[in-house]
Amino acid sequence: MLRLNNIKTFYGNIQALDDVTIKISEGEIITLIGANGAGKTTTLMSISGLTPPRTGEVMFLGEPIHELSPNRIVTMGISQVPEGRRIFPHLTVLENIDMGAYLRSDKEGIKKDIEYIFDLFPILAERRGQAGGTLSGGEQQMLAISRALMAKPRLLLLDEPSLGLAPKVIRQIFDIIVQINTEHKTTIFLVEQNANLALKVADRGYVMENGRIILSDTAQNLLSNESVKKAYLGI
Ligand code: ATP
Repeated sequence: MLRLNNIKTFYGNIQALDDVTIKISEGEIITLIGANGAGKTTTLMSISGLTPPRTGEVMFLGEPIHELSPNRIVTMGISQVPEGRRIFPHLTVLENIDMGAYLRSDKEGIKKDIEYIFDLFPILAERRGQAGGTLSGGEQQMLAISRALMAKPRLLLLDEPSLGLAPKVIRQIFDIIVQINTEHKTTIFLVEQNANLALKVADRGYVMENGRIILSDTAQNLLSNESVKKAYLGI
Protein backbone atom coordinates (compact mmCIF):
# COMPACT_ATOMS: atom_id res chain seq x y z
CA MET A 1 0.00 0.00 0.00
CA LEU A 2 2.74 2.47 0.96
CA ARG A 3 6.44 2.47 0.21
CA LEU A 4 9.02 4.99 1.30
CA ASN A 5 12.03 4.40 -0.93
CA ASN A 6 15.29 5.86 0.41
CA ILE A 7 13.82 9.19 1.42
CA LYS A 8 15.94 12.04 2.74
CA THR A 9 14.07 14.93 4.37
CA PHE A 10 15.54 18.27 5.43
CA TYR A 11 14.56 21.35 7.43
CA GLY A 12 16.64 23.93 5.56
CA ASN A 13 20.18 22.64 5.90
CA ILE A 14 19.34 20.24 8.72
CA GLN A 15 18.92 16.67 7.54
CA ALA A 16 16.24 14.91 9.59
CA LEU A 17 15.83 11.68 7.59
CA ASP A 18 18.55 9.68 5.87
CA ASP A 19 17.69 6.92 3.40
CA VAL A 20 14.50 5.86 5.11
CA THR A 21 12.83 2.85 3.51
CA ILE A 22 9.54 1.55 4.91
CA LYS A 23 6.91 -0.76 3.43
CA ILE A 24 3.33 -1.02 4.64
CA SER A 25 0.82 -3.55 3.31
CA GLU A 26 -2.92 -3.03 3.29
CA GLY A 27 -4.56 -4.04 6.57
CA GLU A 28 -1.41 -3.92 8.68
CA ILE A 29 -0.69 -2.01 11.87
CA ILE A 30 2.90 -0.85 11.56
CA THR A 31 4.70 1.01 14.28
CA LEU A 32 7.71 3.29 14.15
CA ILE A 33 9.50 3.59 17.46
CA GLY A 34 12.46 5.69 18.52
CA ALA A 35 13.69 8.28 21.00
CA ASN A 36 12.86 11.99 21.03
CA GLY A 37 14.16 13.70 17.92
CA ALA A 38 14.85 10.43 16.06
CA GLY A 39 12.78 11.60 13.07
CA LYS A 40 9.46 9.85 13.64
CA THR A 41 7.23 12.91 13.16
CA THR A 42 9.28 13.94 10.14
CA THR A 43 8.62 10.50 8.62
CA LEU A 44 4.87 11.03 8.96
CA MET A 45 5.10 14.56 7.56
CA SER A 46 7.11 13.24 4.61
CA ILE A 47 4.18 10.94 3.81
CA SER A 48 1.40 13.49 4.31
CA GLY A 49 3.18 16.09 2.19
CA LEU A 50 3.67 18.63 4.98
CA THR A 51 7.46 18.23 4.82
CA PRO A 52 8.12 16.49 1.51
CA PRO A 53 11.35 14.53 1.10
CA ARG A 54 14.16 16.16 -0.87
CA THR A 55 15.15 12.87 -2.47
CA GLY A 56 13.67 9.40 -2.67
CA GLU A 57 10.09 8.35 -3.37
CA VAL A 58 6.84 7.94 -1.50
CA MET A 59 4.56 5.51 -3.37
CA PHE A 60 0.93 5.06 -2.32
CA LEU A 61 -1.20 2.41 -4.05
CA GLY A 62 1.40 2.29 -6.79
CA GLU A 63 1.48 6.04 -7.45
CA PRO A 64 4.20 8.53 -6.51
CA ILE A 65 2.80 11.05 -4.01
CA HIS A 66 5.93 12.88 -2.84
CA GLU A 67 5.28 15.84 -5.13
CA LEU A 68 1.56 16.15 -4.40
CA SER A 69 -0.04 18.76 -2.13
CA PRO A 70 -1.17 17.72 1.37
CA ASN A 71 -4.83 18.18 0.29
CA ARG A 72 -4.39 15.90 -2.68
CA ILE A 73 -2.75 13.29 -0.44
CA VAL A 74 -5.75 13.45 1.93
CA THR A 75 -8.17 12.90 -0.96
CA MET A 76 -6.10 9.90 -2.09
CA GLY A 77 -6.76 8.28 1.28
CA ILE A 78 -4.10 9.26 3.82
CA SER A 79 -4.98 11.21 6.99
CA GLN A 80 -2.71 12.21 9.83
CA VAL A 81 -3.54 12.62 13.52
CA PRO A 82 -0.89 15.09 14.63
CA GLU A 83 1.17 14.95 17.79
CA GLY A 84 -0.53 17.03 20.50
CA ARG A 85 -3.98 16.46 18.84
CA ARG A 86 -4.25 20.07 17.47
CA ILE A 87 -8.01 20.18 17.76
CA PHE A 88 -9.80 23.51 17.38
CA PRO A 89 -10.44 24.48 21.03
CA HIS A 90 -13.13 27.09 20.36
CA LEU A 91 -15.15 24.99 17.92
CA THR A 92 -17.65 22.44 19.25
CA VAL A 93 -16.95 18.72 19.18
CA LEU A 94 -19.29 18.31 16.21
CA GLU A 95 -17.69 21.24 14.33
CA ASN A 96 -14.25 19.72 14.96
CA ILE A 97 -15.43 16.38 13.54
CA ASP A 98 -16.99 18.16 10.56
CA MET A 99 -13.68 19.89 9.81
CA GLY A 100 -12.26 16.48 8.93
CA ALA A 101 -14.70 16.26 6.02
CA TYR A 102 -13.59 19.58 4.51
CA LEU A 103 -12.56 17.96 1.23
CA ARG A 104 -15.79 15.94 0.89
CA SER A 105 -19.12 17.00 -0.58
CA ASP A 106 -21.20 13.81 -0.11
CA LYS A 107 -23.58 15.12 2.57
CA GLU A 108 -25.32 11.76 3.16
CA GLY A 109 -21.99 9.94 3.48
CA ILE A 110 -20.73 12.56 5.93
CA LYS A 111 -23.85 12.14 8.06
CA LYS A 112 -23.42 8.37 8.13
CA ASP A 113 -19.76 8.67 9.07
CA ILE A 114 -20.55 11.03 11.95
CA GLU A 115 -22.97 8.38 13.25
CA TYR A 116 -20.19 5.78 13.00
CA ILE A 117 -17.85 8.11 14.93
CA PHE A 118 -20.46 8.59 17.66
CA ASP A 119 -20.83 4.77 17.93
CA LEU A 120 -17.08 4.44 18.23
CA PHE A 121 -16.77 7.27 20.78
CA PRO A 122 -20.10 7.60 22.65
CA ILE A 123 -18.55 10.24 24.93
CA LEU A 124 -18.12 12.53 21.91
CA ALA A 125 -21.80 12.10 21.07
CA GLU A 126 -22.68 13.20 24.60
CA ARG A 127 -20.40 16.20 24.32
CA ARG A 128 -21.12 17.15 20.70
CA GLY A 129 -22.16 20.72 21.56
CA GLN A 130 -19.29 21.38 23.95
CA ALA A 131 -16.18 23.39 22.95
CA GLY A 132 -13.32 21.05 22.00
CA GLY A 133 -10.94 22.81 24.38
CA THR A 134 -13.03 21.79 27.40
CA LEU A 135 -12.49 18.05 26.76
CA SER A 136 -9.99 15.94 28.72
CA GLY A 137 -6.72 14.91 27.04
CA GLY A 138 -8.07 11.45 26.20
CA GLU A 139 -11.29 12.87 24.76
CA GLN A 140 -9.28 15.37 22.68
CA GLN A 141 -7.26 12.43 21.32
CA MET A 142 -10.54 10.69 20.41
CA LEU A 143 -11.67 13.90 18.72
CA ALA A 144 -8.42 14.20 16.74
CA ILE A 145 -8.78 10.57 15.58
CA SER A 146 -12.44 11.22 14.67
CA ARG A 147 -11.51 14.27 12.62
CA ALA A 148 -8.94 12.22 10.70
CA LEU A 149 -11.45 9.39 10.11
CA MET A 150 -13.91 11.85 8.56
CA ALA A 151 -11.62 12.08 5.55
CA LYS A 152 -12.29 8.33 4.99
CA PRO A 153 -8.63 7.32 5.04
CA ARG A 154 -7.37 3.96 3.81
CA LEU A 155 -4.15 4.72 5.71
CA LEU A 156 -4.25 6.48 9.07
CA LEU A 157 -1.06 8.08 10.40
CA LEU A 158 -1.04 8.42 14.19
CA ASP A 159 1.62 10.53 15.91
CA GLU A 160 2.15 9.68 19.59
CA PRO A 161 -1.49 9.04 20.53
CA SER A 162 -0.47 8.07 24.09
CA LEU A 163 1.36 11.33 24.81
CA GLY A 164 0.41 12.83 28.17
CA LEU A 165 -2.45 10.40 28.85
CA ALA A 166 -3.13 8.23 31.91
CA PRO A 167 -2.50 4.46 31.49
CA LYS A 168 -6.21 3.59 31.60
CA VAL A 169 -7.04 6.15 28.90
CA ILE A 170 -4.08 4.98 26.79
CA ARG A 171 -5.43 1.41 26.84
CA GLN A 172 -8.84 2.69 25.76
CA ILE A 173 -7.31 4.65 22.85
CA PHE A 174 -5.23 1.65 21.76
CA ASP A 175 -8.29 -0.63 21.85
CA ILE A 176 -10.04 1.82 19.54
CA ILE A 177 -7.03 1.93 17.22
CA VAL A 178 -7.20 -1.87 16.88
CA GLN A 179 -10.97 -1.65 16.34
CA ILE A 180 -10.51 0.94 13.57
CA ASN A 181 -7.98 -1.39 11.94
CA THR A 182 -10.12 -4.53 12.11
CA GLU A 183 -13.68 -3.23 11.69
CA HIS A 184 -13.05 -0.21 9.53
CA LYS A 185 -10.32 -2.00 7.50
CA THR A 186 -8.03 0.98 7.89
CA THR A 187 -4.30 0.44 7.65
CA ILE A 188 -2.46 2.08 10.55
CA PHE A 189 1.00 3.64 10.77
CA LEU A 190 1.61 4.34 14.43
CA VAL A 191 4.44 6.50 15.74
CA GLU A 192 5.01 5.97 19.45
CA GLN A 193 7.50 6.53 22.22
CA ASN A 194 5.58 3.97 24.28
CA ALA A 195 7.28 1.13 22.42
CA ASN A 196 5.95 -1.60 24.66
CA LEU A 197 2.33 -0.76 23.99
CA ALA A 198 2.85 -0.01 20.30
CA LEU A 199 4.60 -3.33 19.66
CA LYS A 200 1.82 -5.19 21.46
CA VAL A 201 -0.81 -3.99 18.96
CA ALA A 202 1.36 -3.85 15.82
CA ASP A 203 2.04 -6.53 13.22
CA ARG A 204 5.52 -5.22 12.40
CA GLY A 205 7.74 -2.43 13.61
CA TYR A 206 10.63 -0.21 12.55
CA VAL A 207 13.17 1.28 14.93
CA MET A 208 14.60 4.70 14.12
CA GLU A 209 17.72 6.37 15.44
CA ASN A 210 19.14 9.69 14.26
CA GLY A 211 16.99 9.79 11.14
CA ARG A 212 17.81 6.24 10.02
CA ILE A 213 15.97 2.94 10.26
CA ILE A 214 18.27 0.69 12.26
CA LEU A 215 16.03 -2.33 12.65
CA SER A 216 12.78 -3.76 11.29
CA ASP A 217 11.04 -7.00 12.20
CA THR A 218 7.77 -8.49 13.34
CA ALA A 219 6.46 -6.79 16.46
CA GLN A 220 6.82 -10.08 18.34
CA ASN A 221 10.51 -10.40 17.46
CA LEU A 222 11.18 -6.76 18.36
CA LEU A 223 9.55 -7.27 21.76
CA SER A 224 12.04 -10.03 22.52
CA ASN A 225 15.06 -8.36 20.86
CA GLU A 226 17.70 -7.69 23.52
CA SER A 227 18.83 -4.29 22.20
CA VAL A 228 15.22 -3.10 21.77
CA LYS A 229 14.43 -4.30 25.28
CA LYS A 230 17.36 -2.38 26.72
CA ALA A 231 16.94 0.83 24.72
CA TYR A 232 13.16 1.17 24.39
CA LEU A 233 11.34 -1.18 26.72
CA GLY A 234 13.19 -0.41 29.92
CA ILE A 235 13.78 -4.11 30.58
P1 ATP B 1 9.57 13.69 19.01
O1 ATP B 1 9.15 12.42 19.63
O2 ATP B 1 10.28 14.62 19.96
O3 ATP B 1 8.50 14.37 18.21
P2 ATP B 1 10.64 12.67 16.54
O4 ATP B 1 11.28 11.32 16.52
O5 ATP B 1 9.26 12.78 16.04
O6 ATP B 1 10.74 13.28 17.99
P3 ATP B 1 11.26 14.77 14.69
O7 ATP B 1 10.31 15.72 15.32
O8 ATP B 1 10.89 14.17 13.40
O9 ATP B 1 11.61 13.60 15.73
O10 ATP B 1 12.68 15.50 14.57
C1 ATP B 1 13.78 14.95 13.85
C2 ATP B 1 14.91 15.96 13.80
O11 ATP B 1 14.54 17.08 13.02
C3 ATP B 1 15.32 16.50 15.17
O12 ATP B 1 16.71 16.66 15.19
C4 ATP B 1 14.62 17.83 15.24
O13 ATP B 1 15.32 18.74 16.07
C5 ATP B 1 14.64 18.28 13.79
N1 ATP B 1 13.48 19.13 13.48
C6 ATP B 1 12.17 18.80 13.62
N2 ATP B 1 11.37 19.80 13.20
C7 ATP B 1 12.20 20.80 12.80
C8 ATP B 1 12.00 22.12 12.26
N3 ATP B 1 10.77 22.59 12.05
N4 ATP B 1 13.11 22.84 11.97
C9 ATP B 1 14.36 22.36 12.17
N5 ATP B 1 14.61 21.14 12.66
C10 ATP B 1 13.57 20.36 12.97
